[in-house]
Amino acid sequence: MEKKPFVTLEQVREIAKIYPTPFHIYDEKGIRENARRLKEAFSWNKGFKEFFAVKATPNPYILKILREEGCGTDCSSYTELLMSDACGFTGKEIMFSSNVTPRQDFALAAKLGATINLDDFTHIDFLDEIAGIPETICCRYNPGGDFKINNDIMDTPGEAKYGFTKPQLLEGFRILKERGAKHFGIHAFLASNTVANEYYPVLAKILFETAVELQRATGVHIAFINLSGGVGIPYRPEQQPNDIYEIGRGVQKAFEEILVPAGMGDVAIYTELGRFMLAPYGHLVAQVTHQKHIYKEYVGLDACAANLMRPAMYGAYHHITVLGKENAPCDHKYDVTGGLCENNDKFAIDRMLPEIEIGDYVVIHDTGAHGFSMGYNYNGKLRSAEILLKEDGSFQLIRRAETPEDYFATFDFTGIFDDYASKSFTMDAQELKAKSKA
Ligand SMILES: *Cc1c(COP(=O)(O)O)cnc(C)c1O
Repeated sequence: MEKKPFVTLEQVREIAKIYPTPFHIYDEKGIRENARRLKEAFSWNKGFKEFFAVKATPNPYILKILREEGCGTDCSSYTELLMSDACGFTGKEIMFSSNVTPRQDFALAAKLGATINLDDFTHIDFLDEIAGIPETICCRYNPGGDFKINNDIMDTPGEAKYGFTKPQLLEGFRILKERGAKHFGIHAFLASNTVANEYYPVLAKILFETAVELQRATGVHIAFINLSGGVGIPYRPEQQPNDIYEIGRGVQKAFEEILVPAGMGDVAIYTELGRFMLAPYGHLVAQVTHQKHIYKEYVGLDACAANLMRPAMYGAYHHITVLGKENAPCDHKYDVTGGLCENNDKFAIDRMLPEIEIGDYVVIHDTGAHGFSMGYNYNGKLRSAEILLKEDGSFQLIRRAETPEDYFATFDFTGIFDDYASKSFTMDAQELKAKSKA
């Protein structure tokens, strides 16, 4: 499928007058429509709820939009819990799915009344000691081995650090019940970024069968099954996108075949999607600042891997559109790079694109999840702004760009470099502009 940006060159020019590139921009309309499709696809299940994986796009404005669409949050850390709380998510609207969990994180999750999803058998005692065992509790399951769909290996849970084994789950549920837990959930995340409508249905079948087995063996009330994240998106134009309605029907079929006959038709289905909810509705917008002709043709951007780590980290494909040249022939081959002193700082290698000139604006697609949030400050690079393209076509700054002051904020120069203690690191923007023009 052709990948079309949700912004035009004219819009980007308008925005860049106020907020210089690079920036991440999010499409409110796309986010809302997609969230509504997900909700509709699972409307057959009375208790259905999506808990948005905050780590994908930890921005309060995004969380607020998702909250208005009926989503909760899935947190994995102390600060994500704080952000959910600040955004008005309360109690059972928050899922806490962490691992290697610090004590204060469990304490805060318990204080907020979040639903805690234990990653490990030893966390039963650990949590009990910190905050007691709550009435509602969830355990993360790891079936081990390979995870297959139609004999294709999708991932290898046996190599993953997460979750309880089956015997641990059985024993864990017994212990939790003894210590006062009344409502139980089961959670698993067995494959990431799946572009296959079968993923959730196959996972659901495993979890539903496990739920029936655990219910029979321990007599506990299974209140919900959390299918977690992993529903992916087509990063490449030739990929076929997931059909969320077909996915919903596939899960429904397994539900009716396994849970309903076992008298467990009241089980709520939860999801913890991040990528599916946000990735297509975010772009990294950058400007071409340099071109270099050596053994290969290089296009240098004002963005770098510090703004989007996925290509450098996973060799991930992100589609690129040169704004204003959407219909021009892709007859030039480029490596599109950032300016880090790391040769893997390349957004694209040997990519066929229209002829590029300095000053062109490019859209790097599908950066709405695990994009900005994986950013870092290597090479002293500063994090970009985040902008929301609202439904009425106007735009709003939802996170300002970092300044050098932010970068230095964690140092205290007092008594060491006294000259610096009082120094302002931010050159006045006007002064900077004047200098760069001179
Ligand atoms: C990362 C994560 C998610 C979201 O994963 P996506 O691939 O973005 O859907 C959900 N749940 C947990 C526990 C996670 O760690």
